[in-house]
Amino acid sequence: MSTVSLINQTEFGILLTDINEVDHVTWVMKRLLDTFEKPFQIKGNEIYTSAYFGVSIFPHDGQTVEALYSSASNACSHAQKLNGKDRYFFSSKGLNEMAVNQLKIESSLHEAIQNDELQLHYQPKIEAATGRISGFEALLRWQSAGLGFVPPDKFIPVAEQSGQIDAIGDWVLYAACQQLRTWLDMGLEVEPVAINISGVQLRQQNLASRIQNILDEFNLDPNLLEIELTESSLVDIHDNSFDILKHIREMGLRVSMDDFGTGYSSLSYLKNIPLSGLKIDRSFISDINKDETADKLIASIISIAHGLGLDVVAEGVEEKYQVDHLTALGCEYLQGYYFSRPVPQSEVEDILQKQPMALTG
Ligand code: C2E
Ligand code: CA
Ligand code: CA
Repeated sequence: MSTVSLINQTEFGILLTDINEVDHVTWVMKRLLDTFEKPFQIKGNEIYTSAYFGVSIFPHDGQTVEALYSSASNACSHAQKLNGKDRYFFSSKGLNEMAVNQLKIESSLHEAIQNDELQLHYQPKIEAATGRISGFEALLRWQSAGLGFVPPDKFIPVAEQSGQIDAIGDWVLYAACQQLRTWLDMGLEVEPVAINISGVQLRQQNLASRIQNILDEFNLDPNLLEIELTESSLVDIHDNSFDILKHIREMGLRVSMDDFGTGYSSLSYLKNIPLSGLKIDRSFISDINKDETADKLIASIISIAHGLGLDVVAEGVEEKYQVDHLTALGCEYLQGYYFSRPVPQSEVEDILQKQPMALTG
């Protein structure tokens, strides 16, 4: 068998969105490189190829497509020159900034709980038919002594990766239950509070009993606590996690699928996870009246949810026309800046006293 060598070079651009960690980029590249390891079979011939990657990160390595492309291209030439095992190279500025930020977050997070830097804010969910508050979502806030305010989108993924999410999730669970007890003791008409649980936490074997112990400690009815699970965090969910969720449901807590429509294999999760509700991701809500497909998708999601006996919360409701549209489609609950931003605990009491909330915002 003879081998013919052809030098033919082609460049492709790959755009990755929603990247929070450098590791996500390297993971994708390693998978792609693996596919180039074996020869391709084309018309009975084995074709060997090699691939190199240059990575640029927005906005660190450039603000425009041209600038990003140029720094990726330089990084790619560098990778080619290295010609070694690692066939990819980062535009160093972007990598360094991201890696350094991640490290800073990881080390500062160690002190966050001890130094009392975490806080919960609460955003109301509104019952569309009546305008009444039907519950709250607890959202984590971190005012770091060293880094200033760090949004949850930045530190939750780091905490998940570094294993700190268990301690942080436990803090959230405890703080939300403690707050519910305080409101009950104040004589307020308390509504259920939803906490966000990361898929990583679902690997904790004792999660259900931990929740039960805290509910018992504060003498709380389990239907005052709700769990929100993001669909993307369930991608590598273990079989065990389904049992944990089943147990949590049997204890009397509600479980909702968060960010519905943005992850993968949503419909199979609907079949396998014992859910009580769905939250339609805000990206769909912001497309109402702008994108016909989004409108149709929202109507379909609501109808699938109702067919399965699940209720629906629309997230990120910012405008009156979105309220009207969603109410007409039979969406039961609405949440978003139109009604209220997430607020500290002290403001929740004021909000509860203003019940029912006017649907005019
Ligand atoms: P999420 O669960 O989808 O939470 C909703 C996010 O949308 C919140 O951002 C909220 O402030 C924001 N939001 C609410 N209404 C509107 C609106 O009308 N317009 C717009 N543009 N945004 C709106 P936040 O608080 O920054 O949280 C981001 C994400 O961080 C959350 O997304 C959740 O996935 C995660 N997260 C927050 N707290 C926790 C927590 O305690 N544990 C875990 N595991 N994740 C958390
Ligand atoms: Ca949520
Ligand atoms: Ca969400």
